[in-house]
Formats: sequence, C-alpha cells, structure tokens
Amino acid sequence: MGPKTPISHLPGIGQYYSYKLKHLEIETIEDLVYHFPFRYDDFSQLSQIQNLIPGEKTSIQGTVWQIRNIRTRNGKFITTATVADQTGTVEVIWFNQPYLTKNIEAGTPISLSGKVELDGHKFKLISPQYEIIRNGSQLSAVSSQPETIHTGRLVPIYPETEGITSKWLRAKIARYLPEYLKGQNDFMPQEILQRQKLTDIETALTKIHFPENIDEVKLARTRLGFDELFTAQFIAAHRKKQWQSKSVAPQMKVEKEKVQGFIKSLPFKLTGAQIRSLDEILKDMQGKIPANRLLEGDVGSGKTVVAAAAAYISHLNGYEVLVAAPTEILAFQHEKTLTLLLSPYNIKVGIWTGSKKAKGEVTCGTHALLSTFKREKQIGLVVVDEQHRFGVAQRAKLFLQDSKKLTPHLLTMTATPIPRTLALTLYGDLDLSVLDEMPLGRQKISTFVVPNKKRLDAYKFIEKQIKEGQQAFILTPFVEPSETMQTVKAATVEFEKLKSHFSKNVKLGLLHGRLKSREKETVINDFKSGKIHILVTTPVVEVGIDVPNATVMMVESADRFGLAQLHQLRGRVGRGEHKSYCLLFTDSQSQMSQKRLKSMEKVHVGFELAQIDLRMRGPGEIFGLNQSGFTNLKIADLSDEVLISCAQTEAKRLLEKDPNLKKYALLKEKINTQQLEYIQPN
Ligand code: ADP
Ligand code: MG
Repeated sequence: MGPKTPISHLPGIGQYYSYKLKHLEIETIEDLVYHFPFRYDDFSQLSQIQNLIPGEKTSIQGTVWQIRNIRTRNGKFITTATVADQTGTVEVIWFNQPYLTKNIEAGTPISLSGKVELDGHKFKLISPQYEIIRNGSQLSAVSSQPETIHTGRLVPIYPETEGITSKWLRAKIARYLPEYLKGQNDFMPQEILQRQKLTDIETALTKIHFPENIDEVKLARTRLGFDELFTAQFIAAHRKKQWQSKSVAPQMKVEKEKVQGFIKSLPFKLTGAQIRSLDEILKDMQGKIPANRLLEGDVGSGKTVVAAAAAYISHLNGYEVLVAAPTEILAFQHEKTLTLLLSPYNIKVGIWTGSKKAKGEVTCGTHALLSTFKREKQIGLVVVDEQHRFGVAQRAKLFLQDSKKLTPHLLTMTATPIPRTLALTLYGDLDLSVLDEMPLGRQKISTFVVPNKKRLDAYKFIEKQIKEGQQAFILTPFVEPSETMQTVKAATVEFEKLKSHFSKNVKLGLLHGRLKSREKETVINDFKSGKIHILVTTPVVEVGIDVPNATVMMVESADRFGLAQLHQLRGRVGRGEHKSYCLLFTDSQSQMSQKRLKSMEKVHVGFELAQIDLRMRGPGEIFGLNQSGFTNLKIADLSDEVLISCAQTEAKRLLEKDPNLKKYALLKEKINTQQLEYIQPN
C-alpha cells in the first residue's frame, strides 16, 4: 500500500464511503491522514464519579452495570445506562440510538466524555461520546489509562460532510495512519529540519491527530505548516524563474523628461511612495523580462495615476495598453479618469465591455477583457485593477503567455492590504510595490459600531448631513448578482421602507447587481451630480466609486465583511474636504463579531486591520484564497510571519543549490504532485 492508494481499496471504507469522502477532497490514504482537525474537544480531564461537577466537560472510565432501551410515547428510543467506577455510579442517557444496547453490554468497560448535567439531585451524562475499552483490565488505576481516541483525551474534531462524522474519521485515521507512516520517509531534507528545529513528519502527523497536550499540537502545526509554506514558495520561486526565462517582453525606452513632464502636469504632487512605485514599474518595463508586479495601496492612495503614467510610457513606445477592472461601473470610471489624464497626450482611451465596445490605444474593460479582447496590435502593458481574488492574476498570466507575440508587462493593483510576507508566500512569483503613504490632507473617517436601537438616530444624522449639502451611502446586503427576481422584489420593498425614514425632499437611489449597465450608470451619475442624496447599494460599490461629496457610509450586516473590505468601503467617503463618518450595524450577537467590528473604530490602517482579521478569521475568507487554487495551505498559520520567512529562506536556498531537486527525490515527488493542484501548471 502506497500513499496514493485509493481510499476505496482500504478495508472498511469501500465504495459508499469513498463517494462521501470526495466531498472532503479525500481520495487517497494520504488525503485521509492529511485531513486535519480544526479543533480539539478537551476531554483530557479524567474524573472520578464522586467528583463530578455539573456543567463541566469531563471524562470518566468505568464499567457498565446495566443498559436498556425505553420507548417513549411518541415512539422514540431512549437508552439509559448505569456506569460505575470505584467511587460511585452515574446515569447515562442517549437519544435515538437503540442499537447501542447491541454494542454495549452490562459488564463492558467503557470510557465516556461529555458534559455533566444535574437532573433534580442526580448527576447525569447526556449523550456523551463513548468508547469501549478493549484492554479493560487496567481500568482500576486512573494513572494507567488505556489508549482511547474518542474520549478521555484531546479529541480531534474534523471538517465533516453528510454521512461522515468526526468519530468515523477519527477511527479510520487511527487505523490507517500507522500503515501510511510505515511506508514513508521524511521528504523534508534533514538539514532543513535541523536548522529550523522542526519535528519529524511521523511525530507531526501522529500528534496533529492524537496529541497528549496542546504543546504537541503546536509542534505538529509548525512542522506541517512549514511544509505547506515551503512547497508553496518553492513552487512560486521556481515558476518565476521559468516564466522569466521562457517569455520575452517588449523592451521599452523610458525618457526621463517625458515622465517628469507627465508628473508636473498633474494637479497635485505625487507622494514619495507613488514616485518610488512608478520608478519600480518603469524599471521593469525597460527590461526584456515580462514584469509581474503587484501594486498594493489603501483606497485613495493613488494607484490609478501610477498606472496612467506607465500607460503613457507604453504608448510612447508604440504599444497598446489594457486596463481590467472587476465591474463595469469601475471600467467606465477608469475610462473617464484615464481620458482626463491621457488625452492631453493625444492618447485615445476606449472601453470594451458587454454593453459597449470602442477600442482605444488604452482600452478599459472588466476582467473578461482579458479573454475576449481581440488583439491586433502588440500590447505592452496590462493593468489588472482592484483584484483581491488571487485567481485573476493567474488567469491574466495564462492569457498573456498564450500570445505568439511578445508577452506584455503585467501590473496588478489591489487595495486589499495583504501583508508583505503573505503576499510573497502566495504570490512569490510577483514583485511588490507598496503605496504606504497617503496623499496629504486625507482625513480619518470617524467610525462607530451603532447598536440597532439607535438606528433611527442614525437616519436622523444622515438627514442632517444631507441638509448641510452632503451625501451618503447605505450599503445593504439585499441583492447580489446571482440572485433571483424575487430577491430584487424584496429589496425594492426594503428600499421603499427605507425611504419612509427620510423626509420627502431627500432623494434615494437603488443600485444593485441585477440592474442593466445603463441603469447602473444613470443611478451613479445621478449620485455623482447630486440628484440623488442617498445611494442605497449592495457591495457593488465596494471598490472604486469616487464621490467627494459623500460623507456617510452606513453598512448593514457589517459582520459579513472582512475588516479590510470594510476599510475599503469606508474609503468611499472622506474624499472631499468635509468630515466623514462610517456607521456599522450588525445583528450578530457574537462577542467576536463585536470585537472585530470595534477594531474599525480604533484602527485606520488597512494593513493593521488585515492582520487583525487574519488572526481572528484566518486567511481563506479574507483574501478569497478558497477560490484561488491555494488549497494546499490548509494548516499554515498565515499570520506567523516568522515561519513564513523561514520557509522562504529555505525555499530560496534550496532553489539556488539544487533547482531540479536532483538530490531530493522524495521532496521532488511531493512538489510535483502539489504543483499539479495549483491553478497554473507551467
Ligand atoms: P486608489 O488607490 O484607491 O485607486 P485613486 O487612484 O482613485 O486611488 O486616487 C484617489 C484620489 O486621489 C483621486 O481623486 C486622485 O486624483 C487623487 N490623488 C492621487 N494621487 C494624489 C496625490 N499624490 N495627491 C493628492 N491627490 C491624489
Ligand atoms: Mg482605484
């Protein structure tokens, strides 16, 4: 039996369970042992029956004195048992599991874990986890506990699916892990393990499932996380090397005076960060290696003008430019902004979307542009804006490399404040420029988590702002692009209700993903021109819409958003001279949601908010990793910058030393199989 043995070949699993396990992406024995618990029930506290305390999670070990089924009046089964140890007896109850009396007989030594409840004056264990102890002779002495996996210890809880419980998984993993390990040698080079003080793979896999204590979990997580980070970064670095050696980019001439002229003609002074980033991009464009650069900067940090300058240089060299935005609204907005910036140089800016096709020397469109645009002239530069779904850049690269022509330089821009180390892990094949400096005069947006009972006050506050000539966004989660006409109707009803909270002369407009693009454009233009005072909208405005007169951003169900995303939303206001506000509402009672949202009141730096979220919610949701092909990062703690950079150092060192892993056959095999699972297998 090898690591890739299909799960269906294992005795006791078979076709039925193999089918179910597919939902958990478990197809081989290796997948099974790499299916990690996401938490542990702490049943390690072993109690004597006489010391049970109501309300506590506990484990006991004893002998079943009697067990029987009772049928209730409505035909359900209750199983009751009496279990005794040397100190006393306790009653145990299970519901609707009449078969238990077949598995557990009087006289059976048993281990039970669960919560102690007080029923009248009697202690009971209600529906505890149970486990029959096979070597029951040791029972008498607590100190020599028998090995258990479901009870009396830290019990692993796994991601489950219909028909597959944690208990089932635990039993199978306990059974097959030793067989898996028998055939395995550690694929990580010994010298790396030693340098990084990492535990061996056998210990790591054993302890991640069946730890004696939390310290062992930590050691296991560190090793397994290191493996993921190391392979991800090795693959990325390797890919970068290949991509750079295979394709040739248009090599451009950059005339300093022209760049200076462009910068001087702007109505504002560029920030130091903008100048530095522009420098880095222009340096890329002078080379033969296709640039693959990520420009990161908070909302309002001025990414567009940096891209515009690069587009201008590309044009001077005779190459076309494509600019891709995530929504049509933003594509149109880019068209306008870039026209303003580039028309003085006689550069024609066009648009290429579902509803309107007019090519220019610089053409803006949605991300679909990257697959539908008919390329006639050589493209010199592709800009992908506001992308926080990692997959887009990968697809863009794929598209670019298809070309029989030169491969354009690629500039990706994002307002998602991905910490540098994380960006390098996930995007190790990218170069990074960061706009970490805001243009002068930007204000902090006063932010409040508002309790629901003050909702009407919030409406009053908005009305007051409007009387003073300002405008507001109300962001609701009503309608999303995928939803039906019925939800649109519900949204419209909600919208009418909202209207009733404001006086007649306050005009509200509704913007959502189901509107036709022309309708959207009308609503947005009416908002920009001030005909509409309050724009009620779904998260389609999440990025990009620029209305300097708007001073209030009110967000419903704020807990549904990541903090970095909320920060981007909040960046829609405070773009003019007036004091601006962000009001957050939530129905969630959870303390964690409250705490998360409260950090919006205090923290005003996107990077810091992302870090907070990274710690509280994990990276998947925040950065859309789940859709990105980075599914190999299952256990690595992506807020652990030290581990990330250690893994990076080692990956680079090994790539230098033995790029084709000639001396590391096991590692090579591991990396080859993982690589296949990444989006782009080049
Ligand atoms: P984002 O990084 O969010 O895409 P934009 O490029 O849309 O930001 O810029 C936001 C606003 O700031 C625009 O109105 C832009 O003209 C302005 N802006 C950009 N750079 C500067 C600067 N250095 N000084 C002042 N205003 C700037
Ligand atoms: Mg922008």
